[in-house]
Amino acid sequence: MTDKPEVSIVIPVYNEELNLPELVKRCVAACDKLPQSYEILLVDDGSRDRSAELIEQAVKDHPGKIVGILLSTNFGQHAAVTAGLSRARGKYMITMDADLQNPPEEIHKLVEKLVEGYDVVGSIRENRQDTFFRKIASKTVNLMVRRLTRGQTMTDYGCMLRGYSRPVVNAILDCHEQGKFIPMLAMSFARKSVEVMVKHAERAAGESKYSVWKLIALQYDLLTGTSTFPLRMLTFLGFLIALLGVIFGVAILVMTRLNGEEWGRYGTFTMFAILFVFIGAQFAGMGLLGEYIGKIHLNARGRPQFYIEKELNAEKPNNESNK
Ligand code: UDP
Ligand code: MG
Repeated sequence: MTDKPEVSIVIPVYNEELNLPELVKRCVAACDKLPQSYEILLVDDGSRDRSAELIEQAVKDHPGKIVGILLSTNFGQHAAVTAGLSRARGKYMITMDADLQNPPEEIHKLVEKLVEGYDVVGSIRENRQDTFFRKIASKTVNLMVRRLTRGQTMTDYGCMLRGYSRPVVNAILDCHEQGKFIPMLAMSFARKSVEVMVKHAERAAGESKYSVWKLIALQYDLLTGTSTFPLRMLTFLGFLIALLGVIFGVAILVMTRLNGEEWGRYGTFTMFAILFVFIGAQFAGMGLLGEYIGKIHLNARGRPQFYIEKELNAEKPNNESNK
């Protein structure tokens, strides 16, 4: 246990007592087949069932293979994964869900890609087994994330079976913002990424931890946490409304000149035009204020602006023992 394992598998667990025994069994069996040494980190996200006890038992049953991390209360899936990553010692990291929707037997595919030198390995779910609403939600997330990320992107951000290299994980851990969306963060630091096809099963037991409301909240979080685009829209909308007000005002002026004062209902229309301009100005002002708040947000988030993966610096040739 003193040697660092090469592969770390991080699994967030929240009320998964029904899945844990099989998860542990299948994970250990699958990982034993890996040529690399490994550790499995089970992160209990403040479960209220017997998950924590089962994790403790699994740690005893598989010494040196399983590490249990018990969080004090429920912090959410991504926080739990981050906690696991912060404790993981491997060179290659794999994240996956505890509900056996991602078969542990697929782990080797991701590890192989990481060994080949990819920084981020995503996975695409072959014939996805989820409810209709879940699929729609995940389509929107994928679309949104793809819009929000620069450069490389992934097909399926929802599938948590993923592989990350040590430098990418270090970069993620250096981001101290709340409400991280790990796959997206990872992509923003990745140099080389790839995707593999993996099987997908129905949730083995228990219920999904994401209700409709939680999903909507997550998407809202994602949007506001990563981009100031909605604020820009507000400013834009404001200017648009104000412009419409001005156009309306001019139109009223022209029409009343042509058709007489009666056409403008003796100023009632003009009132509306003026109202439009004011409302528009308010929107634009709010958007502008928001832009400043957005800047504060970006600064407060303090994400590293770059991440050095390697430094190449050859020593002078007369020094033979450089390495
Ligand atoms: N999870 C967690 N904390 C939470 C919610 C979920 O650690 O607050 C874990 C859960 O135990 C599972 C994974 O995150 O391992 C994904 O959850 P789930 O399968 O319910 O999500 P879905 O597959 O429906 O997206
Ligand atoms: Mg699931």
